[in-house]
Amino acid sequence: MKHKITLIPGDGTGPEISEAMKRCVEATGVEIEWDYQEAGSDVMDKHGKPLPDKVIESIKKNGVAIKGPITTPIGTGFRSVNVALRQVLDLFACVRPCKYIPGVKSPLKNPKAVDIVIVRENVEDLYAGIEFDEGKDDTGKIINVIRSLSGKKIREDSAISIKPISNYNSERIIRYAFDYAVKNKRRKVTAVTKSNIMKFSDGLFQRTAERVAKEFQGIEFEHRLVDDMCMQLVQKPELYDVLVLPNLYGDIVSDLCAGLIGGLGVAPGANIGEKCAVFEATHGSAPKYKGMNKVNPTGLILSAVMMLKHIGEIEAAERLEKAVAGVIIEGKDVTYDLNKENPVGTKEMADAIVQKIRGN
Ligand code: NAD
Repeated sequence: MKHKITLIPGDGTGPEISEAMKRCVEATGVEIEWDYQEAGSDVMDKHGKPLPDKVIESIKKNGVAIKGPITTPIGTGFRSVNVALRQVLDLFACVRPCKYIPGVKSPLKNPKAVDIVIVRENVEDLYAGIEFDEGKDDTGKIINVIRSLSGKKIREDSAISIKPISNYNSERIIRYAFDYAVKNKRRKVTAVTKSNIMKFSDGLFQRTAERVAKEFQGIEFEHRLVDDMCMQLVQKPELYDVLVLPNLYGDIVSDLCAGLIGGLGVAPGANIGEKCAVFEATHGSAPKYKGMNKVNPTGLILSAVMMLKHIGEIEAAERLEKAVAGVIIEGKDVTYDLNKENPVGTKEMADAIVQKIRGN
């Protein structure tokens, strides 16, 4: 069966790793018709916006997409295309497996112990994009409302970001994490918040997790505060299995866990909704390396492994995963982040993976 999949190459180093990923997926023999769609800073001139409607329509129609990273200007300019995609398509679950691959250098003494899956709420929290800029009339109004309702003073020269955490979205992501644990034979779910300080928003997330956990008696459950969690992950990662977190903590802890397994270059991810799924690496567009054939394509290739499993191509996914692991453990055809002395480029690492799949 031929699959139709939306492919968004992205910007920065995105197009290079997307091409590498595409060649590796095609080498498995799975038949795919790629529906190319452009998004990001490079299409602003042509379409007037970084996320053209036809990109959304394509993903809705095909149900599955894989994308390279897209640059978000810091502080000013357009809002994140990545965040917008997750919100428009209601991709409520961000799933990021962090499993050590032998051959990758890790800062840990025993990196083999790391086998953690991060399930991050993807559509609300401080990422909802509800912000009020410093000095604006509306910001002043909000400051006055808060003063009159809570008696708390906010300085007038403040900018304000709103952190909504709903019952609906908390329950949906926590159920997803437990269902994931059951389906993938995992033993434990840890919910992570800062509920000692944010008693209402993070408190709601924690209480929802405790309630849902009672329905999953076969899965161990615990709650941890995010600061403690960061230290625990560095010192005793072997104690952790599936983590479920609100959006902001999920984003930060994902990068921490990527660091534990040897860096952003090897960390895959998926954004899952009820109707569609978008697969992408954990890392960003690494713009300083754009066009240099330098960065590691593994994060996106392993995201493609997740995608192949999602579309039912399990055997091809396993072959691709094994080929990536084989190339990494040999250590000679890998990029600069995995081999400082004698690295190869993005394209050459993909060539080696393609060769491995073909059994050479
Ligand atoms: P980044 O992940 O792009 O890069 C940080 C550093 O990590 C790089 O300088 C590089 O040293 C290393 N790195 C990243 N990817 C690598 C790879 N594949 N191989 C080897 N090394 C790699 O993070 P950043 O510099 O904070 O972000 C750059 C841009 O990407 C920003 O505009 C940010 O908003 C965007 N971003 C996009 C996504 C996405 O599209 N989903 C995710 C994160 C960041």
